[in-house]
Formats: sequence, C-alpha cells, structure tokens
Amino acid sequence: MVQPEKAITEEVVWELLREVKDPEIPSISMVEMGMIHRVLVTAESIRVDVLPTFVGCPAIEMMRKAIIQQLQTLEEVPAIQVHFVFNPHWTSDRISEEGREKLKSFGIAPPPRNHQPGDPWVVDCPYCGSPYTTLDNLFGPTACRSILYCKHCKNPFEALKPV
Ligand SMILES: [Zn+2]
Repeated sequence: MVQPEKAITEEVVWELLREVKDPEIPSISMVEMGMIHRVLVTAESIRVDVLPTFVGCPAIEMMRKAIIQQLQTLEEVPAIQVHFVFNPHWTSDRISEEGREKLKSFGIAPPPRNHQPGDPWVVDCPYCGSPYTTLDNLFGPTACRSILYCKHCKNPFEALKPV
C-alpha cells in the first residue's frame, strides 16, 4: 500500500477538531468543551467519539456535520465516522481551563468544578467575579443555560449548569 505523502495522524485530527466550534456557544471549540472523547485513525477511516454535553440539546446533527466538514479538508480523506457515545458521561468538569476562560470572556459563567448532585449551585459573575448573583430565570435560551443577574456589577449573564 502506498502511504499518502502527509499521513493523517490522530494528532492532525485533534488539531483540526480544535477549530470545530460548539454549536451552542460559537466562541468555544468542542475540544475545549471536553466533548471529544477519542480519535481513532486507521487506513480506512477516521473515527471520532463525541460525548454530547447536555441531553436534549438539539445540536447533535449539527455537530456531526461540522466535524465531517472540517475533516473533509484533509487530503486523501478516508471514511469519516462520528459516533456519539454516552459512556463515559460528559461532565462539566471536562471543560478545559482555556475553555472556561473563553466562556467567561463570552459572558457565560462556567459551571463550578466537582459539583455533586444536591450541592447548591454557586455561580461567580463572569464579568466581575462576584459570587453575589441571583438566579433570574431557570431556563435560558437553551435548556443548557440559565440567565443570572449579578447584584454587584448589575449585569445579567448566562451560566452553564453543572452536570
Ligand atoms: Zn458582576
């Protein structure tokens, strides 16, 4: 078998996936959201395992299309398989530090780390860092986000729910 001049490696695929944005939050990539579970490259195919973030977010098909479109920029592209896996579960602790910073600069409070079910959800304002915030509306623009209000700097902002 003749090797292509520039071999497609898992590293190359990860690099490309860094450019694929979260369909809900366009400033952050799926890699930063911790949604890419695994990349497997063989001679015949590129397989990407994706952990959907919030069950019920109607973005799965958009994500699949975005990943395939991005990987099709490769030369000599083998078959592309995008699998959505639910084991392990995505948790908000998978969001990278860089991703958390990007969320804040986008005016979205990242979920608290190591949040256990039943813990109170304490959210720091993404603008001023004040924990003096109030839940304004449990249901934000999507089921994944909530609208909060900072009583310190008087800004409304969105927050990602811890899961
Ligand atoms: Zn604030």
